[in-house]
Amino acid sequence: MMYSRILLAVDLTDESIKVANKAVALCKATGAELTILHVIESLNYAYGGDVPIDITDIQAQLQETAKERIAILEAQLDVPVQESCISQGGIESEIHRIAEEKRVDLIVVGSHGRHGLALLLGSTANGVLHGAPCDVLAVKVAKDKD
Ligand code: AMP
Repeated sequence: MMYSRILLAVDLTDESIKVANKAVALCKATGAELTILHVIESLNYAYGGDVPIDITDIQAQLQETAKERIAILEAQLDVPVQESCISQGGIESEIHRIAEEKRVDLIVVGSHGRHGLALLLGSTANGVLHGAPCDVLAVKVAKDKD
């Protein structure tokens, strides 16, 4: 078997289904188990650890919304999902951490055709690729189209 555990990282935007369907096709072809991960970027992390308000409620709400959206995504998939995880922290580092924890052998992410400054800064897919503990598949998602 080529892959036995696949980790699908989703940002839970509309394009997630396209990325998910590639992961599903691979699961069907290889018999791999599918785990879904969404990372809630912690506000402290995003704003340099210095948020002067209580963000507990906001984080809880983000968690609830993420749970609902993952359930909707799961229902659209053609294979059973082994596990769905929501974690908090830096996106790339959490994807790496969960990939190691779950001993996955493939990470599937979406990749955007980026231009200008965004290209310089690099995409999440780029960040995931560097330091990944296993193979990474970046599914081409054209953001400007459809
Ligand atoms: P981006 O470079 O931010 O446009 O994201 C590209 C891909 O990275 C997405 O299609 C997802 O596969 C992954 N990704 C981005 N944000 C998240 C997130 N918060 N949690 C999990 N995966 C994510």
